[in-house]
Amino acid sequence: MQVDKKDIRILSKEDLRDFFVSLGEQPFRGNQVYEWLWKKSAHSFEDMTNLSHELRHLLSEHFVINHIEVDQMQRSEDGTIKNAVRLHDGLVVESVLIPTDKRTTACVSSQVGCSLDCKFCATARLKRMRNLNPDEIYDQVAALNRESRLYFNRPLSNIVFMGMGEPLMNYKNVVKSVEKISSEEGLGISPKRITVSTSGVPKMIRQLADEGPLMKR
Ligand code: SF4
Repeated sequence: MQVDKKDIRILSKEDLRDFFVSLGEQPFRGNQVYEWLWKKSAHSFEDMTNLSHELRHLLSEHFVINHIEVDQMQRSEDGTIKNAVRLHDGLVVESVLIPTDKRTTACVSSQVGCSLDCKFCATARLKRMRNLNPDEIYDQVAALNRESRLYFNRPLSNIVFMGMGEPLMNYKNVVKSVEKISSEEGLGISPKRITVSTSGVPKMIRQLADEGPLMKR
């Protein structure tokens, strides 16, 4: 009988340490795996080269990494890069890297499709299929950060949530993704450089202002 494996990235660093201890291994192995999953954005357990083959195999027997894949990358003459991003269930969203003289800005999606109906917007013609989870948003930023370093020799300077979807209709996951993107254990990008755009959802704008999760630093 095939058992559905859990996505390892739902585990906290403490969970990972506990997992290794339960197998009689040293807890620091959990720290190593956490670093591979987030800071190093590993796509597979095989990438985790400071772990033995046995441990990598063991991880793959228990877990999967539902990483996004950049299915198609297009570059325009002005340097803008557009990624078609395939999610683990086969759905596709878009993310864009926009270079200017002083900045490279990542524009990321927060939902597959959109439930709103802005007249000027092509996404409005697609019905909302699902929210992106925090990891899928994080992965888009990590992929664009890699491309920014590769093609423009500098890391991302800014992030805008202006891709597919209304970010405030996926409030919880967007906030979690921003926390991870700005964490020193993630990409370490200051929330001051992250803009959550909205078509105007007053209740959620008030919640964001009251909770202020994006303004801690
Ligand atoms: S909220 Fe954004 S993605 Fe949704 S229809 Fe309006 S402009 Fe398009």
